[in-house]
Amino acid sequence: MLLRPNSDGLIDFIPAARIQELLRRPPADASELRDVLAKSMNKERLSLEEMATLLAVTSPDLLDEMFAAARALKRTVYGNRIVLFAPLYIGNKCVNACKYCGFRCDNDKVVRRTLTDDELRAEVAVLLSRGHKRLVIDYGEHPDYDADTIAHAVQVIYSVKSEHGGIRRVNINCAPLDVEGYRKMRAAGIGTYQIFQETYHRPTYKAMHPAGNKADFLWRLYGQDRAMEGGCDDVGLGALFGLYDWRFEAMGLLAHAIHLEERFHVGPHTFSFPRIKDASNRALDPRYALSDEDFKRLIAILRLSVPYTGMVLTAREPAKLRHELIEFGCSQIDGGTRIEIGGYQKSEQEQDLDKEQFRIGDTRSLDEVIDDLLDMGAIPSCCTACYRKGRTGEHFMEFAIPGFIKRFCTPNALLTLKEYLLDYASPQVKAKGNQVLANELSKLPDDETKQQLISRLAAIESGQRDLLF
Ligand code: SAM
Ligand code: SF4
Repeated sequence: MLLRPNSDGLIDFIPAARIQELLRRPPADASELRDVLAKSMNKERLSLEEMATLLAVTSPDLLDEMFAAARALKRTVYGNRIVLFAPLYIGNKCVNACKYCGFRCDNDKVVRRTLTDDELRAEVAVLLSRGHKRLVIDYGEHPDYDADTIAHAVQVIYSVKSEHGGIRRVNINCAPLDVEGYRKMRAAGIGTYQIFQETYHRPTYKAMHPAGNKADFLWRLYGQDRAMEGGCDDVGLGALFGLYDWRFEAMGLLAHAIHLEERFHVGPHTFSFPRIKDASNRALDPRYALSDEDFKRLIAILRLSVPYTGMVLTAREPAKLRHELIEFGCSQIDGGTRIEIGGYQKSEQEQDLDKEQFRIGDTRSLDEVIDDLLDMGAIPSCCTACYRKGRTGEHFMEFAIPGFIKRFCTPNALLTLKEYLLDYASPQVKAKGNQVLANELSKLPDDETKQQLISRLAAIESGQRDLLF
């Protein structure tokens, strides 16, 4: 594709023709693969050509080697913490007609609803009572959901306090805004701003987004640029897998990350890689459905290609699969997820697709998810320290600064785990969690940070909250 500016002066920086050419390359051999893996293990971001090598690995032995490298990279770069969050759907009115989504404007079966401030407070109160500290808020795209309304909702959320404190970080997944809109988000104190390009393949994008603002590919593609210009330093990228060839989308994500690095000298905070799920009144071509096996390859390849980026695996996927896939590179998951608007206040767990965007696969409570993470030897973390201490671009620091994880991430994860165990955990999780805490403490070097950590854990035990490094 020619890199020609559109009428707004925007250039499509996704090199589609080059990507297609690279995807036609022959299968990778062992020495090519090992050269690329050596670069990943050296924590360097890969080029499109190098990612194409990983995508061209087909032999079972070499695939195993690649999976082992992804696992090792995750462990050495990020340690064993998994950050937990909950999505919070606030409104599902929508002017767009995205073919895969239950909220699309031409779906007259869906029940439209927007939380009032009081209803929003009630949802947040339930989330707080279950132990959540980090949220991602979600909206359809509609004139009712302008930047002022969303910024107001963020302030409402932060204003809700329980006996153990309030929500500490609100991230946003909403339609792209203009720079002024992002300034308002920043002023409201949002964490990460994320939007998913859905597909980087323009013909597919056009077919999937026939109406509404979202039909403009470049407006969306530059959403993260405008967010950066508006002062939101942590931006998330994503693609919706199942619309087109997953290998093309993986290359699109990498090209997008390279663009941000080149323009802003900082890459994306996170990658999201949702797979399409069943939705109300939806009829989709299953040709590009991504199998579980290829999903695992995708996760490993994204991990290896952009070692500094956080990776989000959502409750769209069933619990068992999430359990298996986390180790290949994921750093954030949601827990206790409900996506019906107002759904956290409902006691029944059954999903009603006419009230929700899509069907989720993992309906476990936050406590059950934490239980599972502890069984895996992971440290469940609700840490929000970097963002609140002004250390934005934290994933980059974790990854780039030697000792950062030991000095900040692990101690902060253990402090938030301690709070969870005292304030919210079931007896079973409490027992397992205390064991994991003791194990992790014993692994830390005997230095000043460890002494401070021990005294802060004791302070939490005696009633203090929200202590951070
Ligand atoms: N409405 C805004 C937008 O489209 O940018 C905000 C994001 S929407 C609340 C969250 C994401 O859900 C979408 O970007 C899309 O990738 C994903 N999604 C939509 N329909 C889906 C489906 N049927 N299965 C899985 N994910 C879906
Ligand atoms: Fe609306 Fe977003 Fe659904 Fe598209 S994906 S129909 S923009 S809510």
